[in-house]
Amino acid sequence: MTIDLHCHSRASDGALSPQELVAHAAACGVEMLSITDHDTVDAYALINRHEPLPLRLVPGIEFSAHWRNRGVHVVGLNVDPGCASLNEAVTRQRLARDKRAERIAERLEKAGAANVLEGATRLADGAPVGRAHFARHLVDTGFVSCAREAFRKYLGDGKPGDVKHVWPGLETVVEWIRDSGGIAVLAHPARYKLTGARLAMLVDEFRRAGGRGIEVISGNQTLDVTRRLGTLCADSGLLASCGSDFHRPECPWARLGRFPALPSACRPVWSEWMS
Ligand code: AMP
Ligand code: MN
Ligand code: MN
Ligand code: MN
Repeated sequence: MTIDLHCHSRASDGALSPQELVAHAAACGVEMLSITDHDTVDAYALINRHEPLPLRLVPGIEFSAHWRNRGVHVVGLNVDPGCASLNEAVTRQRLARDKRAERIAERLEKAGAANVLEGATRLADGAPVGRAHFARHLVDTGFVSCAREAFRKYLGDGKPGDVKHVWPGLETVVEWIRDSGGIAVLAHPARYKLTGARLAMLVDEFRRAGGRGIEVISGNQTLDVTRRLGTLCADSGLLASCGSDFHRPECPWARLGRFPALPSACRPVWSEWMS
């Protein structure tokens, strides 16, 4: 079965509407999909649950959190998008994002960029404003030549536009996910550029906070990384997830549902809702 449990729609910083994303995933052969927008479940309100879908949709979200002076992401899978406490959490994250957007805009304007908050807000078009929208504004106004440059110079880890202390701790976001009936999964563990020992510490603290799984496969990582994460996952007694972190069809390195098999020692997270 082709499964992809991490991707983004226009309800956050993806390029496709939720309906287009579902259709595109089905055309790519995906049979089970979770749309995991940053800090919002709005995509699920835009999909008509009464119309037959071309694949099995597992409601999800990608929460922003804070761990030891670092921004980390936690995916919630099989959540109830209508759950009141989840929607309170989403509102709280929205306020944090708005506050963060103001700070990011101030810092980018100090660095010489213009109309930053207005530009990024317009590009977000009602979605929670994220760094991808700031990057696009910097490209569109000619301040940088591409999104990569925007992140490398202004928005990436440790750069002026990297404002992360607005986010709640791991325990809080894991609790939000559990309260809405979902399974908390640590997103793209290899992307935090942690040493093996620090990553093991993060995974251990995540597990003790009630986290149940990690993304053993994320996007187009190397087989070596997949093997190491598979071992960490199995040794920690956690469930294994896989997701492309797809944002737009133009990125050939992050296509929907193109994965190698999970390492055999791993128990797949979907066994939790398929049994
Ligand atoms: P945010 O949730 O607002 O902190 O933004 C995180 C998002 O920024 C990620 O999900 C990606 O969509 C995007 N992003 C992060 N790093 C990069 C990068 N180096 N190049 C392009 N996009 C990036
Ligand atoms: Mn994103
Ligand atoms: Mn992420
Ligand atoms: Mn993501």
